[in-house]
Amino acid sequence: MDHFSLIDGELHVENVPLARIAEAVGTPVYVYSTATFQRHARVFRDGLKDVPRTHLAFAVKANPNLAVLRLLANEGFGADVVSGGELERALAGGMAAKDIVFSGVGKTRAELAQGLDVGIGQFNLELEEEGVVLAQLAAARGIRAPATLRVNPDVDAGTHEKISTGKAENKFGLPISEARAIFDRLAPLPGLDLRGIAVHIGSQLSSLDPLEKAFSRLGDLIAELRAAGHSITHVDLGGGLGVPYRASDNPPSPAEFGAMVARVTRDWDVELMFEPGRVISANAGVLLTQVLWVKPGVVHPYVIVDAAMNDLARVALYDAYHDFEAVRPTGAKMIANVAGPVCESSDVFAKGREIDVVAGGDLAIFRSAGAYGATMASTYNSRPLVPEVLVSGDRFEIVANRISAATIMGAETVPDWLK
Ligand SMILES: *Cc1c(COP(=O)(O)O)cnc(C)c1O
Repeated sequence: MDHFSLIDGELHVENVPLARIAEAVGTPVYVYSTATFQRHARVFRDGLKDVPRTHLAFAVKANPNLAVLRLLANEGFGADVVSGGELERALAGGMAAKDIVFSGVGKTRAELAQGLDVGIGQFNLELEEEGVVLAQLAAARGIRAPATLRVNPDVDAGTHEKISTGKAENKFGLPISEARAIFDRLAPLPGLDLRGIAVHIGSQLSSLDPLEKAFSRLGDLIAELRAAGHSITHVDLGGGLGVPYRASDNPPSPAEFGAMVARVTRDWDVELMFEPGRVISANAGVLLTQVLWVKPGVVHPYVIVDAAMNDLARVALYDAYHDFEAVRPTGAKMIANVAGPVCESSDVFAKGREIDVVAGGDLAIFRSAGAYGATMASTYNSRPLVPEVLVSGDRFEIVANRISAATIMGAETVPDWLK
């Protein structure tokens, strides 16, 4: 359920007509719903009601907007960060340092030090050498770094190849078969509090089976590590739960996920961490756009909109699907391609799709754009950086300004020797 619906024939976000936002802010613009974020946060938490000790860390990369982070901090979420910049954002968004988990396969020494200096709650280690370096940095500060080993359980998440992370050949995690030996070597280091294991097998998972398989393998590893004398108190189960992008999609619900987790982890006796991203934010946002032209095509017409692949990269990057709907639908339909203005053939959002009839000047939305949307936007083709708006009830506010090409040029210089 979300709060993007037709009221008197016109699409609203909560109680605000999208047309009013377009008039005030211009297009393209991302529009988020506070009530939808809150609902998703609560539904996820409720899904885990039978799991005794949980810690929820929103995957910041899905939507790092400060207002969104604040909203989720208010819902009791910590953060899963993958860079020093995301760490700064999570803190600025009001997440407590102790509630922040640092993931990622390429943390720099400076980022590890930054995490130690602000006192984050956990580092998820991706390789043995990273553990050695973290231990040295922590020991030099007279502290012990709380850490887990991220293991690669070698399961096929059954999702798009480019968002799959838990197969042996992916770059993420340590081979689960080597985890015990690495644990043996890292755990004694004085700068480390190596207290558990972590896993994240991919994103947009449409079935619980691969997750259950991965978690079962973790259960075996916990037993093996404990038998070897290690204390395992924290297990991080990552993110990855899929969301419906199309009406026909039927991903597992947070309640079904929670029931599976409760069953598989019943005897683990650990604090369980979760790093949901997409499931919290995807359907809490839309990308509002205006139709520029309807260009006749050889097979189908091209609806050219003012949003492009630089604003919403998921289609070009992962062949993703986003529903396209008119803000004032008439009920009539047409078969068309929907494309942006960027000079790349991959700047096409839909091909030969049945869509609402639209004409130049009409407003439309791409749905399910609250995750991996604005966060991946660029200024390619010297287009302005897309702004973001947050709605709550009948209010809305710009929570990220449109950044003009002129402002971006302001960061560039021409060397004197060229003048
Ligand atoms: C991206 C990522 C997540 C979030 O994934 P979603 O599919 O958005 O839930 C969680 N944990 C890690 C380590 C990630 O890289």
